[in-house]
Amino acid sequence: MATDCLFRDDSYLKGCEARVVAVTDQGGIVLDRTVFYANSGGQPGDAGSLVLTDGTRIPVTNTIFTDAAKSEIAHIPAPGAPAVNNGDTVRAEIDWEKRYARMRMHTALHLLTAALPYAVTGGSVGEQDGQLDFDIPEGGLDKDAISVKLAEMIATDASVTSRWISDAELDANPGLVKTMSVKPPVGTGQVRLIEIAGIDLQPCGGTHVRQLSEIGAVRVTQIEKKGKLNRRVRIAFG
Ligand SMILES: [Zn+2]
Repeated sequence: MATDCLFRDDSYLKGCEARVVAVTDQGGIVLDRTVFYANSGGQPGDAGSLVLTDGTRIPVTNTIFTDAAKSEIAHIPAPGAPAVNNGDTVRAEIDWEKRYARMRMHTALHLLTAALPYAVTGGSVGEQDGQLDFDIPEGGLDKDAISVKLAEMIATDASVTSRWISDAELDANPGLVKTMSVKPPVGTGQVRLIEIAGIDLQPCGGTHVRQLSEIGAVRVTQIEKKGKLNRRVRIAFG
């Protein structure tokens, strides 16, 4: 059963009321709606708690999609957590500090793709740092120069917005794909686009901050050679 993913429309929601609709064979708790981001695209699943109406707290250690289509989300309870039953009403509360740090880092990684306009082959988002792997034809990347570019972009305090676009609209606007830093997946019907005004446009299902100033200071801490044409670029706060 598809989960209503409230974090997609508002990544700043820290909690919501929801109903338990299933418990998976692995013990994952499926709700009708959730603010918990499910692990995907290099961003880890949220941790937090589900609180029953009698105050019983079920710690959640991770959040995952149960299906390849990424429509249903399961909240993974801590080992030994109290049981829940179908139909139970819960208050779903995320670990906001952790999530907000990831939102800031995730958004910073979008800026990194704008600073380094090469194909991205992988990446991960942490609370202190994050990294992206790029196919880069030549070496000679300069950490400090990239850090300066990131700082310049953050200083613009550009706004970050999301919108949904249909495959048909995408087909009708070939110029849109040209301006995107990442090609959108085709055949899914709807694509979620993240736009950083004047800086970046790309399809993404993750959580982002609203304004670039929220990111704060970031710098490139490491550029690692992962292959003849591949470089891993790591950034960190501070
Ligand atoms: Zn994103």
